[in-house]
Amino acid sequence: MYKILLLNFAMAKRKVNIFGRYIFYTNLSIFSLIFLVPIGSYIITGEKSYLSFTHFALAGIVGLAQVLVNRVFRRNFQDYWELIKNSLLQLSETLKKVKTLKDVKIFKKEKEELLKPLLEEESFSTLGESLKDLLDEVSNTIEIKLFKDEIIRRMTTTLDTKKLSTIFASNIIRYFNIPGVAIYLKSLRGETFELKLNKGFGEINPVLGEGFIEKITSVDSILTEEKLDYKIDLGLCQVNAEKLLVHKLIPRRNKLVGFIIFGTYRNFSPEEEKLLKNFLLELEPTISLIFENALEHERSVTLASFDPLTGAYNRREGLKLVKQLLRKNSFEDKNACVLVLDIDYFKKFNDTYGHEAGDIVLKEVVKIIRNSIRNDDIIVRWGGEEFLILLNGIPVEKAGEVAERIRGNIAQTLIELPDGKKIKVTVSIGVACAEEEGTYSFDELFVVADKRLYKAKREGRNRVVTS
Ligand code: GH3
Ligand code: MG
Ligand code: MG
Repeated sequence: MYKILLLNFAMAKRKVNIFGRYIFYTNLSIFSLIFLVPIGSYIITGEKSYLSFTHFALAGIVGLAQVLVNRVFRRNFQDYWELIKNSLLQLSETLKKVKTLKDVKIFKKEKEELLKPLLEEESFSTLGESLKDLLDEVSNTIEIKLFKDEIIRRMTTTLDTKKLSTIFASNIIRYFNIPGVAIYLKSLRGETFELKLNKGFGEINPVLGEGFIEKITSVDSILTEEKLDYKIDLGLCQVNAEKLLVHKLIPRRNKLVGFIIFGTYRNFSPEEEKLLKNFLLELEPTISLIFENALEHERSVTLASFDPLTGAYNRREGLKLVKQLLRKNSFEDKNACVLVLDIDYFKKFNDTYGHEAGDIVLKEVVKIIRNSIRNDDIIVRWGGEEFLILLNGIPVEKAGEVAERIRGNIAQTLIELPDGKKIKVTVSIGVACAEEEGTYSFDELFVVADKRLYKAKREGRNRVVTS
């Protein structure tokens, strides 16, 4: 008997754990009670039979049984506790190993599995819930950080605004399961916002109604919500246009470089929405800077390559491209023709209508040339009112036709001047083709085309000379 008592004492002393101690004191009180009851009864009644051996033996057996039951209970309890402890240890181990987004997914799955026993046991469910919330918060924070690193890493591989937009949008779409993302960035001249990417919205332009920009810029927060009174039909599904999330890109104070519109076809759960918003806010400063840098880069490349008045290549960049293309065609044995085009009597035109009217004509002429040739042909402003056109891969016999088409289109277009007057101009064109001249040297082709241009001028202007 005393051995059992000693055992209980030893357990309490060792401070096995909170349950061990609890059970010890319960055992002790029950055990004492069993002994105290016969002694107490004897003291009160004076009846000696209460102190009989059988009595104590019975009390001892009951006490012993009690202790054993408690021990079993304690073992179960401890096993359960061990299970929870091990689950938590395993979770913390997995969490330590999280290096990629895939690891986060594994962690989330494991978390669900391992928290199950805790959530299922009624007495622990509140603890389980709090623990779940805490772990959700931790995994979301890590997830956002990793996703941010990943998206930024991908976005620093290019300075092309279209490619950047695609990288950003496709990652967001994949990750947050958003069906509609549209990205607008400031135009090169800075007056408007251009749609750089539209994934899933179909016709999104109506979103930007009157006063849209003023409205979103007047709001301080980076994220604003827009409402539309219609749905955007995507065929298979409908984008819920009633709730669009507009995310502004502001790399520095009061400087809006663009905005991103997100649409959803299903209602986001509050957690998903919170995750997306947190992510966007976290990412905004970096993403805005990346887009701003890319826009700056594009602007400087454009300024360095194009004639600001007409939008044709400037002489330096144009010459480089024309030479590259001729070299490529010579390797591929593919024809190319050089056209030198000069506006007729342009000095007189300027003298009559003024320089401003002359500039309008230059712009208009380039527009007509562009509409008369193919996309992979090149237009260069060679100087003043003289342009160089490279027709890429054109058969020799067709070059004259194309030059004639350019001349004809220009000659018959009425150009409206600022004072409302409508005028016409004519051009003369000299043509030289690589296959015909037996050379892909730009300098040689240019000399021939230029000679033919002057021949066209001598012969009365407003004409094409090909030989
Ligand atoms: P031709 O038919 O022989 O080509 O006569 P032209 O008057 O066109 O020839 P010329 O080379 O003598 O004159 C070119 C004129 O083009 C000179 C200048 O007034 C005008 N010009 C050149 N660059 C510009 C420009 O950027 N803007 C305007 N408005 N005029 C320009
Ligand atoms: Mg001229
Ligand atoms: Mg000239």
